[in-house]
Amino acid sequence: MFEIVFLGTSASAPSIHRGLSAQVVIHDEYRFLIDCGEGTQRQILLSGLGFKRLNRILITHGHLDHILGLAGLLSTFSRWETIDELEIYAGQWALERIRDLLFGVVLRGARPPMNIKLIPVQAGVIFEGDDFSLSAFPVWHRGADCYGFLFEEKNRRPFLPEKAEALNIPPGPWRRDLVNGKSVTLPDGRQVNPDEVLGPVRPGTRFVHVGDVGRTEELVEICRNADGLVIEATYMSDETEMAREFAHLTAQQAAELAKRAGVKHLILTHISRRYRERDVLAEAQAIFPTAAVARDFDMFQIKRDTEVIRSVVRETSA
Ligand SMILES: [Zn+2]
Ligand SMILES: [Zn+2]
Repeated sequence: MFEIVFLGTSASAPSIHRGLSAQVVIHDEYRFLIDCGEGTQRQILLSGLGFKRLNRILITHGHLDHILGLAGLLSTFSRWETIDELEIYAGQWALERIRDLLFGVVLRGARPPMNIKLIPVQAGVIFEGDDFSLSAFPVWHRGADCYGFLFEEKNRRPFLPEKAEALNIPPGPWRRDLVNGKSVTLPDGRQVNPDEVLGPVRPGTRFVHVGDVGRTEELVEICRNADGLVIEATYMSDETEMAREFAHLTAQQAAELAKRAGVKHLILTHISRRYRERDVLAEAQAIFPTAAVARDFDMFQIKRDTEVIRSVVRETSA
């Protein structure tokens, strides 16, 4: 299961109810902050998530509405020193701009409060957790080196205790090895293969996060059958031309992608303050009936073969 908490859902400039792009993806003890628009640190506080273990930041691209919050975050960290190491993953161009912001503007030669690792992203796996992987894939937006992120739980074969009982497998390391796919020799000399006690393969949850993007053709395969897709919807279809010009999507285009790719749940973000939320929602739902428009402090739980669960970590008046 992956949980996503939205901290900022506004496009380009904040609105009264929406902060600039930022969200946290949570899986077990792992946390990834995706994008860090201006004001993100206050949103982190308001959300109750806190700064602990928030040491991995993924940046979709280098536009200011997605990175300016890094400066304030670093400045706060330098007073509190809550973490030892900060990893920032981004494409090369974004990373250069982030380097200027953090080392040029914030630190200006001072020693960073923690080890800051600026990690260049290329297409492919960028992080492996215990039971999931995180990959980056290129997306088309203004400027070079823009990326989306795919979180993917590893496929699993469930352990079937009734089969283990029937085979008289004693509790202990033998069961653990079988769960891990290893054949074992029991104390009585019998050999047991994992196939004898494991059920059919269960695919893990797939969750795709796309930041700003102006074209969806290349995204269909990566989004194929994803359990959750978060993607921008900066415009509505009456301004398709404008969307094309600024390399953004309309709510309709985002919904069409989700439908074409067989995505289970679609969550729209990067909402322009020129629209009413319900109009954006209506445009998307005309194509993808269960589409949602994220608000700041919404939390969504995304899990294979289950309905998405939406809750709020903090009430807002939006
Ligand atoms: Zn943006
Ligand atoms: Zn952008």
